[in-house]
Amino acid sequence: MDYIFDRFEKLASTLIKALERRNHSAFYAASVDEAREIALSLIPEGSSVGWGGSVSMAKTGIIPALREKGCTLLDRAASGDADRTLREIFFADFFLGSTNALSEDGVMVNVDGTANRIAAMAFGPANVILFVGRNKVVKTAEDAYQRAKYIASPINADRFDIKTPCKVTGSCADCLSPDTICCQVLTTRFSRKKGRIKVILINEDLGF
Ligand code: SF4
Repeated sequence: MDYIFDRFEKLASTLIKALERRNHSAFYAASVDEAREIALSLIPEGSSVGWGGSVSMAKTGIIPALREKGCTLLDRAASGDADRTLREIFFADFFLGSTNALSEDGVMVNVDGTANRIAAMAFGPANVILFVGRNKVVKTAEDAYQRAKYIASPINADRFDIKTPCKVTGSCADCLSPDTICCQVLTTRFSRKKGRIKVILINEDLGF
């Protein structure tokens, strides 16, 4: 028996109800492959799609699948003008990403440096699909902030060529260094547009 898998399978029904109460759509996937298929079923052929930096999303293999499906991909890494692409994503049909943390009652917390990711989650693209691994789920909204700020952020900082205290010590020092990746914090507690945010809960540990 895989008790961790079993526990999250049970918890997912509570999470789905909590997210739906906040006007989001929510889905359960047993694996990243299932998550990719759910996302593909939600994104019509020919849609325009942008995304934020997300290890969880990348692990699903959704981007190559969307390319094959004939979607228009707003890829800042492949564009000659990344800043412009980040702005163009606001007009996309879909924005893809993850969340730094999700509470059991459906509150999501995200910390961002450039803030393109949290800005697109809050406003802009018509639809938002978030791929959320079981490791992102915590008990309360306060725990979600703690996870986003003190666990996810130091790990994310380590991915970049930046100078921050956490990069040296592995612990957040609440810095104001020019390179800080913790400029803006978004708490998503409700969506006025019903179903705009679609959360795919994945029964695997994914991302940070
Ligand atoms: S040390 Fe600075 S960059 Fe690192 S997690 Fe804390 S506030 Fe963010």
